[in-house]
Amino acid sequence: MGKDRVSQEYGSLLFTDAVMQERLPKPTYKELRQVIDDGKPLDLDIANEVAHAMKEWALEKGATHFAHWFQPLTGITSEKHDSFLTPINDGTILMSFSGKELVQGEPDASSFPSGGLRATFEARGYTAWDPTSPAFIKDEVLCIPTAFVSYTGEALDKKTPLLRSQVALETQAKRVLALFGRKPKRVFTTIGPEQEYFLVREEDYERRPDLIYCGRTLFGCEPVKGQELEEHYFGAIRPTVNDFMKEVDDELWKLGVPVKTKHNEVAPSQHELAPIFEQGSLAIDDNLLTMEKLKLMATRHGLACLEHEKPFEYVNGSGKHNNWSICADGKNLLEPGAVPSENLQFLVFLAALVAAVDEHADLLRASVASAGNDHRLGANEAPPAIISVFLGDQLHTIVEALINKEEPEVHEAERMDLGVPALPDLLRDSTDRNRTSPFAFTGNKFEFRMCGSQQNLSDPNVVLNTAVAEQCDRFATKLEGKTGDEFTNLALRWVRHTLRDHQRVLFEGNGYSEEWEVEAERRGLPNLKTTPDALPCMVKPENVAFYERYHVLDAAEIHARYVSKAEQYAKLLNIEANTMVYMARHLYLPALSEYSGDLASTVATKAEIGIEAPVEKGLVRVLTDGIAAVHDSADELERLNAATQLLDDPQEQCDAYRDTVLPAMDVLRTAVDGMEKVCGADYWPVPSYNEMLFWV
Ligand code: ADP
Ligand code: MG
Repeated sequence: MGKDRVSQEYGSLLFTDAVMQERLPKPTYKELRQVIDDGKPLDLDIANEVAHAMKEWALEKGATHFAHWFQPLTGITSEKHDSFLTPINDGTILMSFSGKELVQGEPDASSFPSGGLRATFEARGYTAWDPTSPAFIKDEVLCIPTAFVSYTGEALDKKTPLLRSQVALETQAKRVLALFGRKPKRVFTTIGPEQEYFLVREEDYERRPDLIYCGRTLFGCEPVKGQELEEHYFGAIRPTVNDFMKEVDDELWKLGVPVKTKHNEVAPSQHELAPIFEQGSLAIDDNLLTMEKLKLMATRHGLACLEHEKPFEYVNGSGKHNNWSICADGKNLLEPGAVPSENLQFLVFLAALVAAVDEHADLLRASVASAGNDHRLGANEAPPAIISVFLGDQLHTIVEALINKEEPEVHEAERMDLGVPALPDLLRDSTDRNRTSPFAFTGNKFEFRMCGSQQNLSDPNVVLNTAVAEQCDRFATKLEGKTGDEFTNLALRWVRHTLRDHQRVLFEGNGYSEEWEVEAERRGLPNLKTTPDALPCMVKPENVAFYERYHVLDAAEIHARYVSKAEQYAKLLNIEANTMVYMARHLYLPALSEYSGDLASTVATKAEIGIEAPVEKGLVRVLTDGIAAVHDSADELERLNAATQLLDDPQEQCDAYRDTVLPAMDVLRTAVDGMEKVCGADYWPVPSYNEMLFWV
C-alpha cells in the first residue's frame, strides 16, 4: 500500500536511525548506537564507515557539499561548505568524505565572538561532531551538527554547555530515580519550543532600513487600529500566509522537524508555529532550523519574516515558550503518577524544580536577557522581569497543604495517603492557565515564557538543567542509603522543607499587575528589569562555583559569555542608534522639508491671488518646528552614542546605553513619529504601521 505524501517525505533529508540501520554494517551500527546512547568514545574506523555511508546517502539525495553546522555565541547557526570533490591524478575526480572530516572541522574561528576567550588561549577553534543530533541535507549540503570549542577545549558555542548540562542532569536524576528503585537507561529533558513571528510584505520591508539593519521598526506612529478587536488570534489564515506556512511545514517535515501547530497570534500579522517536543538539544537544533526556514521561505512568497522580539511598538511582541520536562526511558517525570510512591517521586522533582528556579532566578533572567527582549519583559504583554512559578489551583493547594502541615510520620498502613490527595485525577484537568506567569506548570511540563523569539534556547536550558541537577544532587546525597519507611519519611520531609524554603517564588496571581512588583520586592525576589541589570549575576562567585561544580562551564568560559553578551547588547544598540540617525537625516528630514516647502509655496501662491491660507501656514510652522526637533535630537543621539562607544568596560558601556542612548533614541522617535502624524502620506519616505500591519 502506498504511503501518503507526508509520511513519504517526512525525514527524507535526515540521516535517521532507520537510514543508519539500513546502510551501516550491523557491528558498526551497534558501536555507533553506543556512542550516541552511552557516550562511548568514537573510534576512527567507525567514523570512517559512518562518513562513507553518510556521503553515499547524501550524494544520492543530490548533495555536493558538506558542512559542520554549529552555534557560535551569536546564537544563530554557522556553516562553511566544503565540496566532497577530490581531484585525482588522471584529471578526474572522486567524491570523498573521511571519518576525520566527519568528526572534526577547523573553521577559521577568528571572526566569531569569543568574549575574549581565544585571545587568552589560542586562535584556532574546532568543530566536533555531535552524534546525538542527526545529520541532514539543506540546499544540497550535508550538514553535520557540531559543537564548537577552542584548541584547549573551552566552549565557544551555545551547544557545548547545553550538552554538558544534559549530562549533569542525567547523572543526578538517575541517582534520585535509583532511590525510588528505578534504573532507566536514559534520562533526558524534553523541549517543545513555541515560535512566534511576524510577516510583512517584502516590498515594505525593503523600504525600511530599520527592519533591514535592526529587525525592528525604530520609528512609526500608532496605527489607527491595533489588536484591540482581538480578531486576529486564531483567526482564519489568509491565503498568502497559508501558502507560506504550508511550504514551511513541507520543508521542515523533510528535515524531520515535527512541526505540528500553526495559527495566527494576538497582534496583526503575527503568527505562531509549534513542533511536537523532542529531546532537548535536538529540539533546539530543530528550532534553529525552523527559524532559518521561516526566513528563507518567506521571501519565496513575497514576504519578510520578522523574528525580532518587538518589531512594532503598540502591538504585542514575540516570544518563544520553552516547554520543558524530564523524561526517563520514555516516562515523563513531571507527570503525576498513578500510585502514591510515584506521586512522591513526582513531588521530589517538582520541589527540585521550584527550588532550582528560586535559587537561580537571577541566572534564568540573565539567560533570556537581550536588547530585543528588554522591550517585552515587564511591558504588559509578556511575563514581568520577576521570576515566579505558577502551579495552578489544584497543585498549589496540595503544595500549600504540604508546606503548612505538621510533619506526620508516615507508616506502612497510611502509605497510600502520604498526606497528599490522589494527584493524577486532579492534575490532568489543569484547564486553568495563567498566561502572566514566567514559569508555569501546565499539567505535565513547565513552560518558561520569558524567552525571546529570536533567541537560541540553549542558554535558559543550561541554567534549568544545571539548577535541577543541583537539587537532585542534594536530595540524593541526603537520602542515599535510606530505604523503606525511613526513606519515604525523609523524602517527604525533604519535599516539604524544600517547598517551604522556596515558597516565596510561588505566585498564582496576575504577574502583570503593579501589586505583584511590590509584593515580589517584599518577598526579596530579584527584579532585574534590563539586560545591563541582569548580566552581572553571570559572573558572581557563587554562580561561577555552581557551574564549575557540575562541569558545565568553567570560570573563563563564564566570563567570556558575560563579555560576549554585554558586547552584543552594546553593538546592537550602536547599530540601532546609527540607523536612527541615518533615517532621520536621509529620509525623514528631506521628506519633511519637501512637504513643508510645497505647503509654503501653496501659501505664497494663494497669497498672490489674495487668498489667506491659515491652515497651510500653521502646518508649515508645525513642520518647521518639527524639523528642528528631529534635526537636534538626531545630533544629540549621535553625540551620546559616540561618547558611549568610547567606553572600554563592557558593563559601563551597557549601562550607558541603557541610561543615555536609549532615552535619546526615544526622544528622536517621538519627534519623528509626531511629524508622521501631520505629514502627507505621499511624502512619507517609509511604509507606515497602517500600511505594514494589515496587508499580509
Ligand atoms: P499550549 O501551551 O499552547 O496550550 P500544548 O500544551 O499543547 O500547547 O503544547 C505546547 C508545546 O509543549 C508543544 O510544543 C508540545 O509538544 C510541548 N510539550 C508537550 N508535552 C511536553 C513535555 N512533556 N515536554 C516538553 N514539551 C512538551
Ligand atoms: Mg504554550
